Amino acid sequence: MTERIDGHTILIGLMAYPIRHSMSPTMHNNAFAKLGLNYAYLAFDVTAEKLPAAIDALRTLEMRGTNISMPNKQRVIPLLDKLDPAAEMVGAVNTIVNDDGVLTGYTTDGIGFMKALDDEEIDIRGHKMTLAGAGGAGTAIAVQAALDGVSEISIFNLHDAEWDNAVRNVKLINDRTNCHATLHELENRNDFKAEIQDSFIYTDSTGVGMKPLEGQTLIDDPSWLRKDLVVFDTVYAPRTTKLMTVAQAAGVEHVFNGLGMMLEQGAAAFKLWTGKEMPVDYIHQILF
Ligand code: NAD
Repeated sequence: MTERIDGHTILIGLMAYPIRHSMSPTMHNNAFAKLGLNYAYLAFDVTAEKLPAAIDALRTLEMRGTNISMPNKQRVIPLLDKLDPAAEMVGAVNTIVNDDGVLTGYTTDGIGFMKALDDEEIDIRGHKMTLAGAGGAGTAIAVQAALDGVSEISIFNLHDAEWDNAVRNVKLINDRTNCHATLHELENRNDFKAEIQDSFIYTDSTGVGMKPLEGQTLIDDPSWLRKDLVVFDTVYAPRTTKLMTVAQAAGVEHVFNGLGMMLEQGAAAFKLWTGKEMPVDYIHQILF
């Protein structure tokens, strides 16, 4: 570390609260070291109240950028100069790039999802996806998949606090992309089963399967899942969720957790700041 940090070191932040548990500093600092890049990545406790001052500091200190997480992903938008089209559609930002004082907001979760599939040589463009969940992750996934050329997305959500967001997502995708999106009630099990059976990929972005819902799944009947369906769970702790176990019992060949998505969303931010490819396999070994 002392060999790397000097008077020219470029600072990148992570502004959120709480945030000290994050793996991102380990991810990015190891990637900088591996590539010999003179950058440092630090986590800062930034509450909603401190956010405007923190964004000012980004400009004042000429930081290259920052990651943004809860509770700041949406409220940071009015503080920025520009928004990437995907971030504008998603209505949230997880990465800021500072180009000589001009701050642009990006969202990389959806990019991470698509790239994780590309890494496995699975191309969902031109195909249909059934997606459970329309929260932060589900919105980013739906928007990026639609922008990248997925032909149809059937979005399922409970009638909970996220329902209105799901309505918004479907309208936005249909208005602004060539993808045809539809909204369905997760409570309608026959509809859910039929849409999955008609899809190329089923993605669960609800977090059912991780604490406090570890061991639970929205699909417990293996007969719902064709062997050639792709099954993607955004959860990465535990590494194998109940949904993945059910898919494996059904003989599904392509079953993924959210690890690849997590690594690739970080790699996409890394590329935006440095212009370089993150050594993803190396970082995978270090983190897991
Ligand atoms: P969120 O709270 O914004 O959204 C949660 C969604 O799940 C909502 O649509 C909600 O209606 C739905 N939901 C909640 N409880 C449910 C239940 N019991 N049954 C059915 N639906 C339910 O959360 P988020 O930030 O979108 O995160 C969701 C999951 O995605 C988490 O497991 C998180 O770890 C994961 N995630 C993974 C990555 C990655 O890089 N792999 C990135 C972001 C989020």
